[in-house]
Amino acid sequence: EKEITIILITHDMEEVLLADRVFVMDQGKVVMSGKPKEVFAHVEELKGYGLEVPFAAELAYELKKEGIRLSDAVTKGRTGGRVMSISLEKVSYIYEDNSDIKKPALIDVDLEIGEGEFIGIIGHTGSGKSTLIQHLNGLMEPTKGRVYFEGKNIHAEDYDIKSLRGKVGLCFQYPEHQLFETTILEDVCFGPMNFGASKEEAEEAAKEALKDVGISEELFGKSPFELSGGQKRRVAIAGILAMKPEYFILDEPTAGLDPEGRVQLLELLKCLNQEQGITIILVSHSMEDIASYVDR
Ligand code: ADP
Ligand code: MG
Repeated sequence: EKEITIILITHDMEEVLLADRVFVMDQGKVVMSGKPKEVFAHVEELKGYGLEVPFAAELAYELKKEGIRLSDAVTKGRTGGRVMSISLEKVSYIYEDNSDIKKPALIDVDLEIGEGEFIGIIGHTGSGKSTLIQHLNGLMEPTKGRVYFEGKNIHAEDYDIKSLRGKVGLCFQYPEHQLFETTILEDVCFGPMNFGASKEEAEEAAKEALKDVGISEELFGKSPFELSGGQKRRVAIAGILAMKPEYFILDEPTAGLDPEGRVQLLELLKCLNQEQGITIILVSHSMEDIASYVDR
């Protein structure tokens, strides 16, 4: 209404789509400019500058390259005949169920996850993603419905929920806020020791996990608070990996990371899935991440 000129500086390509005109910079130079549509038609060139391309532009480009029309490209979800090891049956969860302001967050959710899958959970803010995943390792108990792990009801009286939490690792949003030990190595040892590992066993697991996430040895003795944001997050993730989970749930793990940090993290998850057979459950609101990485 007041016609204020807006100059938005960003590395988020979805935001760039909102602009009238874009300048792309690289090494101190303006290397491309034009309307978003014009700029995003040059997918390879943008990638050469270390930039990503919005999901829709990339998809259109890839399909065109393969000679596929958009209307032919719709595929159906598949389970590929796997054995389903986590299942939710008609799970509902209502926050503040005992008060007048009942807030239903999950309604009759049926969902199955198989061993070795790379699963994506997507939805806008407030759609219930975080509530859902806390049901997968028994942190939350359904108001109605059941959760099974390997065929057993995890809220049955004799169920060993601690062992379930050892198998199903959960990484909360902004996990770096939970770093607290004096050194990185001690922080990553906390989980395994909490699950009964000796100091030596914990350190061995911690070092391996830190190596997996790309934290080099000379950092092990430093305070986690000396690290960059992306490094802190990787340390926090190592803290869960050190417990050697068979299932690894991550709540928006790429939120707030720059494109490079995001790709590194997603590649790590892919590697854990493909090389160590860890089932990955990735919560995201990025269609790009989900489209590029998950099986289902
Ligand atoms: P998402 O992770 O997809 O953003 P959430 O699972 O956090 O969604 O939230 C689902 C719904 O439950 C939202 O309407 C949210 O406001 C509500 N909710 C989440 N946590 C609480 C809470 N602790 N108390 C009351 N309502 C909550
Ligand atoms: Mg959430």
